[in-house]
Amino acid sequence: MTYDVAIIGAGVNGAASAFHLSRRFKHVALMDQGSIASGGSGAAGAFISPKFSKGGELKRLISEAFVYSLKFYQDNFPDLIDVKPLLHIARREDEALKIRSFKNSTELKIVEQLKESMFSGLNRFAQEQESIALECSGVVDAKSVCCEMAKGVDFICLKVDSISYENNCWHIGDIRAKRIVLSTGASAHLVPMPHIRLRAVWGHRIDISTTTQLPYHLHQLVSISATDSSGKCAIGATHDLNFKLNDEHYIATQRQELLDKALKSVDLKDIKILKDYAGFRSGSNDYLPMMGRVADLKQTLKRYDFLKDGFKMPYTKAIYHKDLYMLNGVGGYGFVLAPLLAKKLTDLIVEDADEDEVLSPSRFITRYAKKALVV
Ligand SMILES: Cc1cc2nc3c(=O)[nH]c(=O)nc-3n(C[C@H](O)[C@H](O)[C@H](O)COP(=O)(O)OP(=O)(O)OC[C@H]3O[C@@H](n4cnc5c(N)ncnc54)[C@H](O)[C@@H]3O)c2cc1C
Repeated sequence: MTYDVAIIGAGVNGAASAFHLSRRFKHVALMDQGSIASGGSGAAGAFISPKFSKGGELKRLISEAFVYSLKFYQDNFPDLIDVKPLLHIARREDEALKIRSFKNSTELKIVEQLKESMFSGLNRFAQEQESIALECSGVVDAKSVCCEMAKGVDFICLKVDSISYENNCWHIGDIRAKRIVLSTGASAHLVPMPHIRLRAVWGHRIDISTTTQLPYHLHQLVSISATDSSGKCAIGATHDLNFKLNDEHYIATQRQELLDKALKSVDLKDIKILKDYAGFRSGSNDYLPMMGRVADLKQTLKRYDFLKDGFKMPYTKAIYHKDLYMLNGVGGYGFVLAPLLAKKLTDLIVEDADEDEVLSPSRFITRYAKKALVV
């Protein structure tokens, strides 16, 4: 059998792609070297919250994705999302401005009347800073939601070393597919893409138990989820470019950093660490995700040799690999962005639509050509 689509990488990007693509194609395969959500996605606290910044393309995209994904998870996986209000507090004085600007421009529902009760349990450090409370935000069960999104497609446990296009279809070892979606997170690219640099940022988070009841999700120095009925809550996450794998001292330091930061906001009593999670987020050079067709860089540079002189090329005019797509670079917002981006990718594949200029992975070609080819 030849699959209609093979998705390589079963993190939240691959699983959300499996969800949407399987509604449009009959034979979809999802592949991973480990189990579903065995990479960065399995480590996520999986908070579904917007980006509280002043403006910009990333804020606009995350706002759209936040509204989409809250509804998506509630409609499709209501048992796997904990929807609660969100109290977001500035980390420093200079962030107050961003929060005020967000308040003035957002269409999301802000809670004014609940604010006093939300504040009563907080420490002074949290009470004194500018804050905003949203009526709705969520935390999803990261691993379970990925597994559920992937239900109904063929899961194949395989480390893919290479892919090749021959006789009108893609070959992944013995497996054949008409199209491929690459959603391999922070791992090395499977086809040459030197113009796309991935930033891998290590993150650590913990689940704890506490006797303190936190009735809402809280963001300040770290994110703390509302306590569930068993007294469990998630605290995350650290950001580190220089991680140390399997180093007990390093793990203890990361754990302590999370606890110290959480306790600055709220006095969580009788803490017991239940579990540690860690993994990579994968980000792009301009912090925006990459969703769309994969360009054949060699052919594109050959066709547009003026690129080396610093002239620009419309992204849509890149020479593309046939039926090869990617979804990556969702940074610290994978669970917010993936449902919407996977839907957009599915529409692009089905309708053979033009690339989205903001999200196109080809946006890095011009700059790469200018830098790499000028002698
Ligand atoms: C500690 C932590 C906390 C986070 N908290 C949040 C949060 O609260 N909210 C939020 O929205 N996001 C959060 N994130 C970010 C989110 O987890 C990432 O954005 C998301 O996991 C990215 O998903 P992905 O599918 O791109 O990558 P991954 O989950 O890493 O998936 C890539 C998959 O590809 C597989 N793969 C790679 N190469 C190959 C190959 N050659 N062959 C076969 N398989 C391959 C890997 O095994 C892996 O399973 C957090 C991340 C971390 C680390």
